[in-house]
Amino acid sequence: MAGPAHQAPMIDGCGRRIDYVRISVTDRCNLRCTYCMAEDMTFLPRRDLLTLDEIAQLARHLVARGVRRIRLTGGEPLVRRGVMDLVRALGAMWSEGLEEVTLTTNGTLLARDARALFAAGVRRVNVSLDTLDPARFALITRGGRISDVIAGINAALAAGLTVKVNMVALKGVNDAELVDMVRWCGERGCDLSLIETMPLGEIGGGRRETFLPLSDARAVLEDAFALLPTTHRTAGPARYFEIAETGRRVGFITPLTDNFCAACNRIRISATGTVYACLGREERVELRDILRDGRFADLDRALFSLLADKPARHDFDIDRRKPAVSRHMSVTGG
Ligand code: SAM
Ligand code: SF4
Repeated sequence: MAGPAHQAPMIDGCGRRIDYVRISVTDRCNLRCTYCMAEDMTFLPRRDLLTLDEIAQLARHLVARGVRRIRLTGGEPLVRRGVMDLVRALGAMWSEGLEEVTLTTNGTLLARDARALFAAGVRRVNVSLDTLDPARFALITRGGRISDVIAGINAALAAGLTVKVNMVALKGVNDAELVDMVRWCGERGCDLSLIETMPLGEIGGGRRETFLPLSDARAVLEDAFALLPTTHRTAGPARYFEIAETGRRVGFITPLTDNFCAACNRIRISATGTVYACLGREERVELRDILRDGRFADLDRALFSLLADKPARHDFDIDRRKPAVSRHMSVTGG
């Protein structure tokens, strides 16, 4: 296969530099979180997925265009067979300019994989944990065992990984646990990111009823802790505060109530090689066949035309009856 045609950096039509890519390595998952998926979710046939080699090839191409950080996600990235080979392949791209490989995971398989992730060069993982209550966890995930996730977080910390906990804040479901969650994370030396639920894909019920604006969550936390403003930023959209009592940070990801799209630095790639310009919009290009045919010039043409059309902002509206886009977060890569 010929090398990349040219090394132009990726700048979108709004002048935003794209140096961060989220890659969904599978749309499958071993949990069925109520806000993420329908119970009877159907998944893509395996033959439609990019192979792990193809994902690595695409990643290399993007690194040559200025991508500095790659986050593997899904679905649940650790259920994809052989995914550690991909992590190792990405880990070998430091010399090409890649600075960080991270993972977002539900943590259920982390006890198995934490040490291998660290050995492959991963230093940070985000682990999703929406509650500390085993029964509530089973309800939210439709049957998951919280002990698997806790074991995963412990294994990740023991392996030397920095763990950030992601919690989707849900009114009437887990909002009474915000203070406990901040304490629990603080005791383990973990930062916590709170996320507003986003209208992505049909889930067999409304999202309006459980939507919690994070301004409410922040007010609850400010009653319990001293939240100190900080300039800390990651590659993501969270706004962080330091918690004086725990010494750790809490981040607020507010797509619905406080738009952050002006600083967007990312594109997302689905497990089938569709590149989405925005989580909450339809603009996309299909790269799988182009990649399989080795047409690198076309790859660049497709990527750069998508960037030219990257929307200025998403179109989420929790009050609309239909979700902003029909695909689920697990398809686009959350
Ligand atoms: N399975 C992995 C996990 O749960 O961490 C990775 C994929 S999951 C789609 C990535 C993140 O998206 C998780 O933190 C999850 O809680 C969040 N998420 C899923 N659906 C969401 C939605 N509709 N709104 C907001 N966050 C969502
Ligand atoms: Fe699976 Fe993650 Fe979606 Fe939960 S949020 S169903 S763990 S992909």
